[in-house]
Amino acid sequence: MENPLTPEVLADPVALTRALVDIESVSLDEKAIADCVEEVLRAAPHLTTYRHGNTVMARTDLGRATRVVLAGHLDTVPLNNNFPSTVRGDLMYGCGTSDMKSGVAFALQLAVHLPDPRYDVTYFFYEAEEIESRYNGLTLVSAAHPEWLEADFAVLLEPTYGLVEAGCQGTMRATVVTTGVRAHSARSWHGVNAVHAAGEVLRRLAGYQARRVTIDGCEYREGMNAVRIHGGVAGNVVPDRCEIEVNYRFAPDRTPAEAEAHLREVLAGYELTVTDCAPGALPGLDALPAREFLAAVGAAPVGKLGWTDVSRFAALGIPALNFGPGDPNLAHHPDEHVEIGKIRDGAATLHRWLAST
Ligand SMILES: [Zn+2]
Repeated sequence: MENPLTPEVLADPVALTRALVDIESVSLDEKAIADCVEEVLRAAPHLTTYRHGNTVMARTDLGRATRVVLAGHLDTVPLNNNFPSTVRGDLMYGCGTSDMKSGVAFALQLAVHLPDPRYDVTYFFYEAEEIESRYNGLTLVSAAHPEWLEADFAVLLEPTYGLVEAGCQGTMRATVVTTGVRAHSARSWHGVNAVHAAGEVLRRLAGYQARRVTIDGCEYREGMNAVRIHGGVAGNVVPDRCEIEVNYRFAPDRTPAEAEAHLREVLAGYELTVTDCAPGALPGLDALPAREFLAAVGAAPVGKLGWTDVSRFAALGIPALNFGPGDPNLAHHPDEHVEIGKIRDGAATLHRWLAST
């Protein structure tokens, strides 16, 4: 295949987005796009380029005091009659337009066209973000070559509609078990009904007043919800066991241990087992490059409510935020599209941030 990422395409973030979208790259099928990106990066004399699997990393080494990461995943969710791209008016449609090849285009264009950024920059294009964590290029590289990711600050170019979305909430899943005594329902007074006992657990969750927390100017809104319930033996048996699955989304000022303690406090008196947890990430907007980034964007940051790879950077000790042109509500949607004006604005913002001295 001839590389579609030609010098003319690389000169324009809109054309570059479109060319990237038109290289199919559903998760675990990123070789073609990684090859194209790698070739372009290797041709730039001011970059040192490395590859691990289908993850490509390129870096400047100008001896600057600060290093920042610009990161984007190369994969998309499965196609849904939305390949290749189409353009209607100011909208570009297609799989990956919003999530997140428009963001990848920002990083790739800067990598090629900005030989002397004000910070040293690590450009990180990774595989398999949309599927299980064990395939994720960021996870794989942080295990195999942790030094590739050493930096003071990271921008993850996920869709945020041109806003800064900082940090992210943590998520914890737990199972609460109520127990009773089995009996024939014709003589139910001999038993204790575990499904009825679940009622008090559900009442506590329904009445729970979730916190809203503001950190570095970003509001995070917590939530604690029953997400599944399972109990019952047969149509004529008083059940002796009921399981309620609870999902707690917690603001990043709580550690997983603190979140668990709070969950146990709310559901005190019940048997509770934590089955899964991913920590949140503080917004980290007090770092100097983050403050300068916010100034370049010129709009107030907002808290990220979902869980993103920002948290993986936070776990490596690197403050990170999300910034990209796509509308996050359209990610994974068959009608996925991006506003062309947002691509131009975002590319200009990143250039302003990295090029100014
Ligand atoms: Zn994404």
